[in-house]
Amino acid sequence: MKVGKIYKVSGPLVVCKGLEGSRMYDVCYVGEEKLIGEIIALSGDLTYIQVYEDTAGLGVNDPVFPTYQPLMVELGPGLISSIFDGIQRPLDKIREIAGDFITRGIILPALDREKKWYFKPLIKPPIEVFGGDIIGEVSETSLVIHKIMIPPDIAGELIELKEGEFTVEEPIGKIRVKDKIIDLKLYHKWPVRKERPYQKKLPPKEILSTGQRVVDTFFPIAKGGTACVPGPFGSGKTVIQHQFSKWADAQIVIFIGCGERGNEMTDVLIEFPKLKDPKSGEPLMKRTVLIANTSNMPVAAREASVYTGITIGEYFRDMGYSVTLQADSTSRWAEAMREISGRLEEMPGEEGYPAYLQRRIAEFYERAGRVLALGRPEREGALSVIGSVSPPGGDLGDPVVQATLRVVKVFWSLEDKLAYQRHFPAISWLNSYSLYQQDLIEDLSKKVAPDFIELSKEAMAILEKEAELLEIVRLIGKDTLSVNDRLILEAARIIREDFLHQNAFLEIDTYTSLKKQYEMLKICLYFYERAKKALNENRVTIEDIEKLKVRERIAKMKFIKEEEMEKEFSEIKKEIEECLK
Ligand code: ADP
Repeated sequence: MKVGKIYKVSGPLVVCKGLEGSRMYDVCYVGEEKLIGEIIALSGDLTYIQVYEDTAGLGVNDPVFPTYQPLMVELGPGLISSIFDGIQRPLDKIREIAGDFITRGIILPALDREKKWYFKPLIKPPIEVFGGDIIGEVSETSLVIHKIMIPPDIAGELIELKEGEFTVEEPIGKIRVKDKIIDLKLYHKWPVRKERPYQKKLPPKEILSTGQRVVDTFFPIAKGGTACVPGPFGSGKTVIQHQFSKWADAQIVIFIGCGERGNEMTDVLIEFPKLKDPKSGEPLMKRTVLIANTSNMPVAAREASVYTGITIGEYFRDMGYSVTLQADSTSRWAEAMREISGRLEEMPGEEGYPAYLQRRIAEFYERAGRVLALGRPEREGALSVIGSVSPPGGDLGDPVVQATLRVVKVFWSLEDKLAYQRHFPAISWLNSYSLYQQDLIEDLSKKVAPDFIELSKEAMAILEKEAELLEIVRLIGKDTLSVNDRLILEAARIIREDFLHQNAFLEIDTYTSLKKQYEMLKICLYFYERAKKALNENRVTIEDIEKLKVRERIAKMKFIKEEEMEKEFSEIKKEIEECLK
């Protein structure tokens, strides 16, 4: 076998000679310790390898072993509940072997080779099969049925399919492809940088409800949609990520952690496994795949983790599931790109980021979507991607934020200013946006009410008007405001405090169904309408309105149980009518 030789080492970048015949993105094992790396540039007789482990100690003329294969992930039972590093090595297994500090050059299969899974076939051979066809299933955890599919790039005649207990390596059946017979296993491999195929991308049309009022009502994300959330320190980013993981209308959660400091990452490793799935009461890990860059892996590994995560997400999407993927933080990934690009001495773009930053970010988010999956039976799957960004100093002009905002359709602007005021979730209603609201009209009309979006727009108009008025108050004082303007301030306060404020730690408030969100919003606006009428007909004064007792009842509507909704909301409505007669 051909063996290359190291020519130069520059941090995570190793340049070597003698690897002719290798292609871009092929994996190589570098040095005697066989550190894992990926070819990221070829130039003349030089091969540039991004190494995913600490390169200290490597020297000129050390060997480099080509594999002639791209970086792949293993896709099969055992993914769920796992915690992987960026190149899909199981962290718990590595820890068993090497302790907390991962020694280098550990090559471990991603999926457990010993564990047996009960495979239940769903079709009978002999039968013609195509890539993506579901042939059977494995009950992976109490929350996930893992559909076993024909790998996307295979088609032929299924000639044997067994039922029973198998490890991922034991053949479950045989398939004749042209004149060759190949074994089918519970898993297959897929290159991480290659999008998994599907029949057709479908337009967004269904809401990915999250139970978070500010999100669902004002800045909704569609199933298969993309969103960006900046995460200034202390703004409640962790809480909101946990809320999405727990409550978003998805069966599978993929969480990619690219922490900067070691402790950011251990937080995820410690906290995530403690989360409970609210619907089943079981650990959320039973429907989660966690990917974590450990602090002793070099920055380059973050790049791999992003691709590893999204490929696993696509795989569950292909089964017909709604999958959410959260990447935290994509800024760390972009910084890794910047570092490697610098070492490759490429022409830098804005703030030293490579010129291809925008393209890479766009390619990543474009792998999100709602699709008609490959194969039979016909099914739709959705992969929704939420990326957090952490620009230095919270500056939204940062190139990574800008590149992200150019592709994603939702922006939840988490602001530390709101967090200081204890307004949680600290998502700014003035700076956030969602471009999906139009796409969701039909779905929301059907699921909630035909006028849901209209009401949301009315409420938003009040909040925007409030911001304008507050500016006037700041400049020339409150006295200049008309009574109608003062009423706007009151209405906005009700919307902010009684609707937008949502306490993630209170059982009754942590999740609000779309229906209840609608009823709550209706009450806020009904109060405003009635008060305006009464005020304009001189039946009350603005001071009366400020002191109305029903305001307390409105403030408490978030604590109304879902099953008592109808009765309670109609009573509040009556009370509003009474006191503003
Ligand atoms: P970050 O990860 O941005 O540093 P955290 O998510 O840890 O911040 O949030 C900081 C604190 O803010 C939490 O400990 C909690 O007290 C409060 N907080 C954040 N979000 C909420 C929420 N939705 N409801 C109630 N409290 C919240």
